[in-house]
Amino acid sequence: MKYARYIFQNNIYYGIVTGNEISELNGDPFEGYTLTSKTVAVSEVKLLSPTLPNKILAIGLNYRSHLGKVSELGHRDEPSVPEPFLKAPTSVINPGESIVLPKNSTKVQEEGEMVVVIKEQCKNVSRHEAKDYILGYTCGNDVSDRNWQANDLQWWRAKSSDTFAPMGPFIETDIDSGNVMLRARVNGEVIQESSTSYLIHDVSSIIEHISSVITLEPGDAIFTGTPGSPVDIHAGDTVEVEIDGIGVLSNPVVSE
Ligand code: MG
Repeated sequence: MKYARYIFQNNIYYGIVTGNEISELNGDPFEGYTLTSKTVAVSEVKLLSPTLPNKILAIGLNYRSHLGKVSELGHRDEPSVPEPFLKAPTSVINPGESIVLPKNSTKVQEEGEMVVVIKEQCKNVSRHEAKDYILGYTCGNDVSDRNWQANDLQWWRAKSSDTFAPMGPFIETDIDSGNVMLRARVNGEVIQESSTSYLIHDVSSIIEHISSVITLEPGDAIFTGTPGSPVDIHAGDTVEVEIDGIGVLSNPVVSE
């Protein structure tokens, strides 16, 4: 099943997407809902980030193809456990909205990622139970300034500047998170392409690790890591992140 969050006639709704049509819900996928009889074409709505997370965790260094591929960060060993960091919820933007390069930024890159959306509050979840707490998956872009990432003591602005977490367009509940194709394109050129079967730490292990110390809540988002070699993005570019079965998240890039 595919969930959308959207604006139609000045109201915000969740809906279920079938083909090019959205069926409006009364309620939402976290608290529960009933299906209404109202439908609208996807083209008639403004799509929003399909979740507004209270917190965003993101896993660093989770594809072998990415290790050592960011020259500013140097050599990195494969981590023996998932390596989460936090992104500010204020960095989230909707599909189609602009990634804004902060005025003092110097080397911003895209990171196409599969994002897990949490369905229910959970703590101390074993990897065997992890799937019970997942609503589904969406596309995310873990936008990163490499010079800030390399030279600041913390990654607060490298990863959490406003607009540095595009998410969407939909939450798909039924993909195989361990074997789906992920792509990132800049101006139509494929920059990153990998199956999620190459994740070093899979989704269940990530949830076990995070929830051993942090309570996960409905709507929380976990970016699962990026493959390959991201590139610099500049004002005027368009970045797309696509996951088979979910859709395409597209965002233009502008300067502050
Ligand atoms: Mg990342």
